[in-house]
Amino acid sequence: MLIDKDKIFTNLQGKGASDLRSSRSRGIWNNTGKIIGKGQAWIINEVKKSEIRGRGGAGFPTGVKWSFIQNPNIDPDLPRYFIVNADEGEPGTCKDRDILRYEPHRLLEGVLISAFAIGAHTAYIYIRGEYANEAKILQKAINEAYSKRLLGKNAAGSGWDCDVYIHRGMGGYICGEETALIESLEGKKGLPRNKPPYPVQAGLYSCPTMVNNVETVSTIPEILRRGASWFASIGRHKNTGTKIFSISGCVNKPCNVEEAMGIPLKELIEKHAGGVTGGWDNLLAVIPGGASTEVLPKSICNIVTMDFDDLCSLHSALGTGGVIVMDSSVDVVAAVFRLSLFYKHESCGQCTPCREGIGWISRIMQKILRGQAGLRDIDLLEDLIKQIPDETICAFAAGAASPIQGLLRHFRPLMLERIKRL
Ligand code: SF4
Repeated sequence: MLIDKDKIFTNLQGKGASDLRSSRSRGIWNNTGKIIGKGQAWIINEVKKSEIRGRGGAGFPTGVKWSFIQNPNIDPDLPRYFIVNADEGEPGTCKDRDILRYEPHRLLEGVLISAFAIGAHTAYIYIRGEYANEAKILQKAINEAYSKRLLGKNAAGSGWDCDVYIHRGMGGYICGEETALIESLEGKKGLPRNKPPYPVQAGLYSCPTMVNNVETVSTIPEILRRGASWFASIGRHKNTGTKIFSISGCVNKPCNVEEAMGIPLKELIEKHAGGVTGGWDNLLAVIPGGASTEVLPKSICNIVTMDFDDLCSLHSALGTGGVIVMDSSVDVVAAVFRLSLFYKHESCGQCTPCREGIGWISRIMQKILRGQAGLRDIDLLEDLIKQIPDETICAFAAGAASPIQGLLRHFRPLMLERIKRL
């Protein structure tokens, strides 16, 4: 359990104002210039030592990702770009939205430090189109920061110039994939690129580019202010620090909450979301990390802890930390079918297994729901789930297959019941 003094996002519930003065009273923009004065190598090393892993879903160690930009093969004469991925579109996830609403200066301070660390003088915040109000709040914060010389020339007295621009997306889920985001930022259709080259080698306008999630970037200043060892002391090895969880579905008090990495799922739901509707015994299933992760049955929810490695060992994932709770009144087969329709709609269509396979999956799921499927359809579904993620350009197809994989792994009897009803 996270103690109050270890919280980073002290205005996550929006009880205080988000303007610069109020943000400063919460410690934001405190000693930013001095932190930058310690140099790029020091910052990257501290971030590595903190063991923070990306909060956008993939969970790759941020410090390691940043260190790739130090590769001597990267042309030092090319401009570098820093991009914040604020295209939060994962069903069940709304944590970045509340950072943008209530802690925009925490993000901007993180942008300045991160951009400096990777050698970028220009940063873009790519925000999903639907977050229109959040974009307005953020622009207001950017204007305030410029007016107090926290951004722009000699930002925060650091000697580093850094300009920050907002770019509003058009609501495509796939633009949360970093190379699709870059394509979209360049004014093209948001289609994922083949990799390599990775963005760090050839990203925005073919220049070295770093893309990080809103929560990750917003966490960086506090890691550097309080020390990597403080951050690493929360949670456990390779699963360190605090994490914002979005808890929704069949709970008494849906919320966004910052907690220690590794909190038991049961404790998280009962302590912060008022418990499952009808009590814990009424729980049927939980999708623990946003819609692209495997659905878990109650027996696993009883014991699982919310960190990258524990969830991975149980064939699911921490993902974005979007916890979707289903009680016994929910038809979990119908819920997962609904997700398959979402993925069918959002596939960018470049790869045949993804474009055709996800549509195929949703048609089989519909047959199962209508009681029109046979046993062979379950086998076919299983086969498709195994094959679809192979040979695709991005991880979307694997994410789309995950909830169905969880259904087959843990709720097969419920699927078979539908068939027996024939
Ligand atoms: Fe597009 Fe799907 Fe291929 Fe990703 S896996 S590039 S979303 S078709």
